[in-house]
Amino acid sequence: MTYQSPISPGISWYEASVAERPEYPTMDGARQCDVAVIGGGFTGLQAAYNLAKGGVDVTLIEAHRFGDGASGRNGGQLGTGQRWFPEEMEGTLGVARSRALFDLAENAKNYLMEFATTNGIDMDYMPGQMNVSHKKAYEAEYRESVEASASRYDYHHFAFMEREETQERVGSTLYHFGIRDTGTGHIHPMKLIVGLAKAAAEAGAHICENTPARKIERKADGFVIGTATGEISAKRVLIACNAYIEGLEPVTAAHVMPIRSFIGATEPLDNFPAVIPGGEAVADSRFVVRYFRKTRDNRLLFGGREAYTADHPSDMSVHIRRQITEIYPQLSKINITHAWGGSVGITLNRQPFAREVQPGLTSIGGYSGHGVMLANYCGKLYADAVLGTSSELDLIKSLKIKSFPGGARFRKPLLLLALSWYALLDKL
Ligand SMILES: Cc1cc2nc3c(=O)[nH]c(=O)nc-3n(C[C@H](O)[C@H](O)[C@H](O)COP(=O)(O)OP(=O)(O)OC[C@H]3O[C@@H](n4cnc5c(N)ncnc54)[C@H](O)[C@@H]3O)c2cc1C
Repeated sequence: MTYQSPISPGISWYEASVAERPEYPTMDGARQCDVAVIGGGFTGLQAAYNLAKGGVDVTLIEAHRFGDGASGRNGGQLGTGQRWFPEEMEGTLGVARSRALFDLAENAKNYLMEFATTNGIDMDYMPGQMNVSHKKAYEAEYRESVEASASRYDYHHFAFMEREETQERVGSTLYHFGIRDTGTGHIHPMKLIVGLAKAAAEAGAHICENTPARKIERKADGFVIGTATGEISAKRVLIACNAYIEGLEPVTAAHVMPIRSFIGATEPLDNFPAVIPGGEAVADSRFVVRYFRKTRDNRLLFGGREAYTADHPSDMSVHIRRQITEIYPQLSKINITHAWGGSVGITLNRQPFAREVQPGLTSIGGYSGHGVMLANYCGKLYADAVLGTSSELDLIKSLKIKSFPGGARFRKPLLLLALSWYALLDKL
């Protein structure tokens, strides 16, 4: 029987289509190391890989299987820059910092491609991405973004698409215009997770699955992490639990909140050549973003985010089919072979969260739906900071991320209320 993640609903197409997903042992007994990493998604595994390569004694524990959180189950879209168009951040951050964050994201993109090549990981990379608008009112912003990216960010891969081109490239009459980005692409995230875990183990990291951290205690010379089957003593700790943090560490839980997002995979679209004929990934302008793309074997992978009442795969399919049909009426009867979900870690201002919550105890996450390349890179940057080879992580640490209002008790209901309001605006 196909494995089912205990923390995220549904069996993903990624899970079903990855050739192998080797298991790693549970941690047993007491261990001592320089750095302990909690969480085995992109952030944690990249940190472990790069630390081990740099000669650091590192132990990583993952509560379930690597990739069971967001990293093995996401839309696979790399994107460009941060979660916002770069010029949108200039007002609060100024041009220089906005540019530095854009450059960091370009470094992230380049790092990921190089990492995959160096380690012989075929992550099904397909080029191209399109941001498309469901409202006419956004035209000036889209045009400005193309212009600003070229003139102030030296990024020349954005091209504005008029209505006809947008509709042809998406294969739908729903969108008014868009931006085509030829400098990025999309991947099969579980293939990356499998290759990354293998690379980390081969580099000498001690990596364990099915080992939840139960508590983190400060000691005179570092930290002790308690698990059900043993404990780890480490001088430093990286918390890489993102949206799945729950009660482990309160500062992270106050700044990174989970939002459920759901994806469906159709059967191969061999009879529908008009659907995204160029194979780019697509993300639309809704607050509750719809993101979709074709896979190497010609399926449509369609994601959207809604507060569904149930997490059962058949319910997920109903909502996903409705959204697909709005864009592609010709696919109203298409078979949805897989439907699954996961938790996206968001912050209040949708910028990533990296903070030393106590001296030696660092937490990184909250990429706000933009973590495929950023999580991989931030994990590497954490290792660089420990090794003293780069201080690029300081740029992320310097972002002023506020905690969600409402305290531990009310912050979740308040967030849901706010999201429902914005989802309503999408429909107007
Ligand atoms: C459905 C969906 C679609 C998305 N689409 C995109 C996209 O197209 N593009 C994009 O850029 N981003 C996307 N994202 C976001 C992206 O996947 C994440 O930003 C990224 O994977 C975060 O990686 P991470 O390693 O920080 O966290 P995760 O991958 O979530 O890993 C955290 C890990 O910590 C573990 N953990 C939690 N508590 C403990 C504990 N106590 N002890 C041990 N381990 C613990 C969890 O089990 C989990 O495996 C999407 C996310 C989802 C859910």
